[in-house]
Amino acid sequence: MTAAASKAKDRAPLRLAGATRGEIVRALAEIGAPERELNMRASQFWHWIYHRGAREFSAMRNIARPLLDKLSERCTLARPEIVTEQVSADGTRKWLLRMPPAHPLDRGAEIECVYIPESDRGTLCVSSQVGCTLNCAFCHTGTMALVRNLTAAEIVGQVLVARDRLGDFPGGVAPADGLVPSGEGARAVSNVVFMGMGEPLYNLDAVRDAIAILTDGDGLSLSKRRITVSTSGVVPEMARLGAECGTMLAVSLHATNNALRDELVPLNRKYPIDTLLQACRDYPGASNARRITFEYVMLKRVNDSAADAKALVRLLKGLPAKINLIPFNPWPGSSFECSDWETIERFSEIVFNAGYASPVRTPRGRDILAACGQLKSESEKLRARARLMLEESLAVGQD
Ligand code: SAH
Ligand code: SF4
Repeated sequence: MTAAASKAKDRAPLRLAGATRGEIVRALAEIGAPERELNMRASQFWHWIYHRGAREFSAMRNIARPLLDKLSERCTLARPEIVTEQVSADGTRKWLLRMPPAHPLDRGAEIECVYIPESDRGTLCVSSQVGCTLNCAFCHTGTMALVRNLTAAEIVGQVLVARDRLGDFPGGVAPADGLVPSGEGARAVSNVVFMGMGEPLYNLDAVRDAIAILTDGDGLSLSKRRITVSTSGVVPEMARLGAECGTMLAVSLHATNNALRDELVPLNRKYPIDTLLQACRDYPGASNARRITFEYVMLKRVNDSAADAKALVRLLKGLPAKINLIPFNPWPGSSFECSDWETIERFSEIVFNAGYASPVRTPRGRDILAACGQLKSESEKLRARARLMLEESLAVGQD
């Protein structure tokens, strides 16, 4: 085999599941599809990949066989691989997903993705990064050693896997355990929240491209109002999120004064509460009909007094806000405790009396460590470090 042929053989396949329209056009051009057909063909593939959920090129019945054959030599429709699936007694599912390796020595990143069925919706909580650089004091994800951004395809891949698994594409079959919403017109995945691992605003380009794919009317067709991006307060990126994505915003507030927020959410030292709330006031599209959600984790004797509740109400005055009280979810080694139920009720009553709906988010999937802030994939520190070193040495080798 010539060097060039062996290089071509070793080339990683182009991944079309999760690809943007531009990437699909480029793949078609690369296999020699006629230039004048590129856009039309890309639309056909788009429909098969995102509307029909095709997992094999052979299923694409209205596309000529020779084109499909060429495409399948160079491209793949593979999704992230499900390493484990855990199903909670309440129907919450947590998947550990392995992302396809980017090069022959890459083992591929592992991330977690959680599905939460409710009577009127099914919410998929997706990750935007492997790990998180921000180290919030109460969050398990922040303790992960390895951090890297996910690509747009890897973010969209989480939705594709969930829809495959839940039988949510045309002709799909729901799992037999009866824990997935069904019935006329029911969509298993109706909502997506960026509340898994990672800080979405530190990976905004990929998050934006993923949202464009998820909301495309010829494909997955999710409504922008049913997608929520949660940030710990990356102030300089918030306007761009509103302008370029137009999705709902959630802000992880958790404290009403800078001294405490500096401790709980260290990013506060860079972007303190007043700058964060100003960015919320300026958030494009925020209105009483499209309120910003403020997340507030209930930590025993830390931020849960009646005075804290009153301070919260004062702080948010005039903002189109919803307040989401999250009972703290403990994880092995965490030093916080969840507030008592009576304390949460008293807190929520003060907030409610001030005119805010303040649903207390019922902890879901606690038995499988799938609740907020409990996510941490199995990648161990050593393995992560070894992989980083390998990747670095490969990068050097390519110079
Ligand atoms: N990084 C983003 C999004 C992911 S975290 C952010 O921080 O907003 C999603 C939500 O879970 C955030 O509000 C986060 O503060 C909260 N959270 C993290 N750890 C938690 C825990 N152990 N118990 C309850 N909520 C937690
Ligand atoms: Fe990162 Fe969000 Fe966890 Fe903070 S709460 S460490 S920003 S994932």
